[in-house]
Parts: sequence; C-alpha cells; structure tokens
Amino acid sequence: MAENNKACILIVDDERINIKALSALLCDDYRIKIALSGRKALEIADSFSAPDLILLDVMMPEMDGYEVCKVIKNTKSTCHIPIIFITGKVDEEDETRGLNLGAVDYITKPFRPAIVSARVKTQIKVKQQSDLLAEMSYLDGLTDNHNRRSFDETLEIEWQSSLRYKRPLSLLMMDIDCFKQYNDFYGHQQGDSCLQSVASCLKNSIMRSTDHIARYGGEEFCVILPETGHESACDFAEKLREKVDAMHINHASSNCVDHITLSIGVATDVPTEGKTAKSLICSADAFLYQAKASGRNKVAFERPVIDGQ
Ligand code: GH3
Ligand code: MG
Ligand code: MG
Repeated sequence: MAENNKACILIVDDERINIKALSALLCDDYRIKIALSGRKALEIADSFSAPDLILLDVMMPEMDGYEVCKVIKNTKSTCHIPIIFITGKVDEEDETRGLNLGAVDYITKPFRPAIVSARVKTQIKVKQQSDLLAEMSYLDGLTDNHNRRSFDETLEIEWQSSLRYKRPLSLLMMDIDCFKQYNDFYGHQQGDSCLQSVASCLKNSIMRSTDHIARYGGEEFCVILPETGHESACDFAEKLREKVDAMHINHASSNCVDHITLSIGVATDVPTEGKTAKSLICSADAFLYQAKASGRNKVAFERPVIDGQ
C-alpha cells in the first residue's frame, strides 16, 4: 500500500525502548508518529495530519497518560481519535479508569506482539469505517455533491469567519429551469441522470478549494464563495450558467429554450453583529425568484445604486 494511504498511528511513551519496540512491530503496515511526552502528543493529535489511533503509555513525567486521554477526549477537534492504553499498570482499577476516560482498549506490558497487532488492526478498521460514515453523512447520495447538512454547517462557519475578519461572503442559489416538465416528459430516471450531469458540471467548475458547492434540495444547488465580492460572484454565476447552457442537454418540453438551463440568484454581504447567515439565503433566494420571473436562464443580483438615477 502507498505510504500516504496507510493509516497513521501515534505512539506516546517517555521511554524510547518502548517506542522502538512498538514502531518495529507496526511500521510495515502503518505510518508511525512518536511523542516522548504528553504535551507533544496533544500537539500532534490536534495538528492538520492527526493520527488514526493513539497508543498511549500511562506513566509519564509531567503529564500522565490519563491526563492526555482526558484532554483529547474533551477537545472537539480530537475526541474522535481512538486511544489504546499500553501500560505496565495491571490493576483492575487502573484499567477501569482508562476505559472510563474513553479509551477503546487497554493492553498491559510486557505486551505480546501478536495481540497488539491484532487489536490495533481491529481499532483501525473501526476508525476507517466511522470516518467513511461521517464522510457519507455530508454527501448527497444521488449527485455525490455535498448535501444540505454540509451546506448549513459550512455557511455558518464561513459567516462567522467573515464576521470576524470583516470580509465579504457571497452565495449563489441555482435552480434548474422547468425541471418538472423534464421529469414529466423524459421520466424520473432520466431526470436523475440529468441532475447528476448538471451537478458534476457545477462541481468541476469550482476552482478554489475554499468554494463550497452543495445540493440544497431537489433541483437546487448552492455555492458558498468565501472572501468573494459581489462582482466576482456575479461573474462566476454567469460562468456557471453558461457552462450548463453549453452542455445542451435536450429539454423538448421546456418553456424557456430547447435544452436544460439554470437560473441563479446572487447575494453578497459583509456580515455584521446582529445579522445571521439566513439573511444571505433570503437575499439569494429573492434574486433567484427574480431570475425566474424575468424569463429563466438568467443570473439576477442587486444592481449597484448609481447617483442621480
Ligand atoms: P422552475 O423553472 O420554476 O424552477 O420550474 P421547475 O419545474 O424546475 O420547478 P418545480 O419546483 O415546479 O419542480 C421541481 C421538480 O424537480 C419537481 C421534482 O419532481 C423534481 N425533482 C426534485 N428532486 C428530484 C430528484 O432527485 N430526481 C428527479 N428526477 N427529479 C427531482
Ligand atoms: Mg426548485
Ligand atoms: Mg426548477
């Protein structure tokens, strides 16, 4: 397996000899990180490349393993990382304490290599399954785009961040035109394929990693554009409209044109205290309505007020 695809294990122990023995046992199947103290372990656990599993010694100077476990389990960004204690403390009371702190397993030293390998393998499998489920809970099953839950959470995060840094945040709300007629004319299965094609075209048009596209519902999609002013957001909306237009997916029963098109509403705001992200959705929605009312296959947005007009 390619090195980067391997699961990552953090071994925490103040004694190098223990780290060496565990690393030697696991390094063929996993990427290994090491920490010689509790503090270092916390730093690595909370970093961008967090481990998939932590093997944690209990007795360490300064901060012991129980303390490390407590902090990891009480921190939102790290609480999902499973911990196995590997320790010389063999009392029932110690083991119970470790498990009650949220560790998934407790292995006593001197450890038997085959047992450690097997238990690690099991916990890595459980972690990978739970990561997959977490990922799927943010995806839309039909289009493989982000789903409504992902959109709601991302918009809130971006709103708060734009509020803090006083930066503009833009939102595009897009709706496929005359899609009910498409389903009625071509059938729901072809309707589903059409949604998939449009979704994939939109997704492939996103260039910045911070831009977030999601299926808002039915035949509606949204793009969150952080740090994007009104003009750039309108330009991008126009680009998306043109891209879908250029796909030329036949739509013989559309009362707009003879192929699938999108209407888009654009809203931009620099968030201020007292306002919520809902105001941005309302505004984008109102402009989407305007785009529909003015003939569909259009981008609608707030026109800047020009003096004397
Ligand atoms: P408008 O141009 O005003 O948006 O008209 P419209 O027909 O697109 O809008 P309307 O809201 O009347 O209909 C939306 C249609 O989208 C109705 C619904 O059956 C269809 N739809 C929603 N979700 C799905 C889906 O997952 N698959 C399919 N095939 N159709 C869907
Ligand atoms: Mg709709
Ligand atoms: Mg529609």
